[in-house]
Formats: sequence, structure tokens, C-alpha cells
Amino acid sequence: MNVTGSITPTSDTTLAAQLTGVRKVYRMGESETVALDRVDLSIPAGEIVALVGPSGSGKSTLCSIAGGILTPSAGSVIVGGQEITGYTPRQLTAFRRETIGFVFQSVNLVPFLTARENLLVVDEIGRRHRSAARARADELLEELGLSEHSRHLPGELSGGQRQRVAIGRALMNDPALVLFDEPTSSLDTALGDHVMGLIRSEMKVRNTAAIVDTHDERVTHHADRTVHIIDGVLNA
Ligand code: ADP
Ligand code: MG
Repeated sequence: MNVTGSITPTSDTTLAAQLTGVRKVYRMGESETVALDRVDLSIPAGEIVALVGPSGSGKSTLCSIAGGILTPSAGSVIVGGQEITGYTPRQLTAFRRETIGFVFQSVNLVPFLTARENLLVVDEIGRRHRSAARARADELLEELGLSEHSRHLPGELSGGQRQRVAIGRALMNDPALVLFDEPTSSLDTALGDHVMGLIRSEMKVRNTAAIVDTHDERVTHHADRTVHIIDGVLNA
């Protein structure tokens, strides 16, 4: 990589994300944890990056910063052509809603809503016309092989099906970047491989970039690139 801390941040729209010199320090009372240090990471549109490292290495922190959930202590974060580093909380909320898709390990579907309603809930927060949102949800459910299950509650779905609903929900607003935090950690090997293959095909068909946090090297062959993180430092 030729990206260094001295690069001038620009809104290069061929890049889905560009993190430059990112540092994150958590302060709790007297103690400080440097969760990320000197992180430089550029992700072209459509690239799938596996971010691999042991527990506590900073993977979730990096994803949270790229997704505008956390602000870095230093450095610059450009996602979808937006320099979000100086954003107000209100601007970050809009940024997350319009530019980012999130899929967490716990999947976080709303248990009392059907698969289809779990996709539509994103758009309640967004501003799309209801009929357009329903059409979009149905199209995604169909692509993900969930048409038959669109009226099922999460509790009536298998683990893999719930993952697919979560992927569909993350894609509702055509994000520039989808962040997957340990998407396969609760799945067995075969299902983990299947879900990663699905993530790959869904991202590729849309030219949507993704960061997939994982401590599971077995799924990295589905990524375009694997970046290792140890103690908050990339490729160390
Ligand atoms: P990973 O996702 O790779 O397991 P995390 O990003 O969750 O790593 O954590 C990186 C480091 O930051 C760890 O040492 C963790 O204990 C610490 N950390 C994470 N979140 C917080 C927090 N909210 N407050 C204090 N320390 C935190
Ligand atoms: Mg984590």
C-alpha cells in the first residue's frame, strides 16, 4: 500500500472508504487502551476486505469508526466520498442511515417483526416512499432466497436464514460500505462458508464494498484481500 499518514484527504469516489492515520484511545478513569494506532486502509468500491485478528485486537473498533458509530481520537475517515471526521452527531446519524450497512454477529433482528418487516424498518428510519421500500424489500428477499419466508418471524427461521435477512436489511439503502462484525462466528463451518459466499455474491453484484471482521481464517478465501490486525495495528 502506498497510502501514508501524509496523504491529503480527498473525496475520491472510486474509493468506498479511506481511513488515514486513525487512532482510537479508550479512556476509563485512570486507564487508557490504545485500540487502534496508525491505521491506514483504503477500500475501492466493490472490494471485500477480511479484517482478521484475535479477540481484543481492535476489529470492532475499526468497523465502528468506519461506520460513524465511534469517532476516532485522531486521523481521517472518508466513506462514500464523505469526510465524516468532523461530523456532528446528527450528521453521523444521517450518514449511517444513508451510506452504511451493518450486520452484527448477533444479527439483531427485531423478534416480533417478520423477515419483510425487518427490512422495512430500515426505511421507516430512512425517507423512501413506502411502496418503493416494499418493492425493494421484496426484491432483496427474493434474491436472498427468502421469498417463501418473508412473513416468518426470526424465531421461525434457521440461523442461516436470519443471517440472510440481516444481509438484506443492510442492503436496503444501497450503502457504499457494509460492515460485517463476526458474521460467521456463531455458525458451523459449512454454514459459515455458505454465508461468506453469499456475502461475496451479494456485494459483487452491486459493486458494494465490505469489511468483514473475523477471527476465522477459514472464511477469508471469499474476500478480495485479507488485512491482519494485532493490538490495533494493521498487517503487523
Ligand atoms: P475485537 O473486535 O478485535 O475483539 P475491540 O475493538 O472490541 O476488539 O477491542 C479492542 C480493544 O479496545 C480491547 O482491548 C478492548 O478491551 C478495548 N475496548 C473496546 N471497547 C471499549 C470500550 N468501550 N471502553 C474501553 N475499552 C474498550
Ligand atoms: Mg469484535
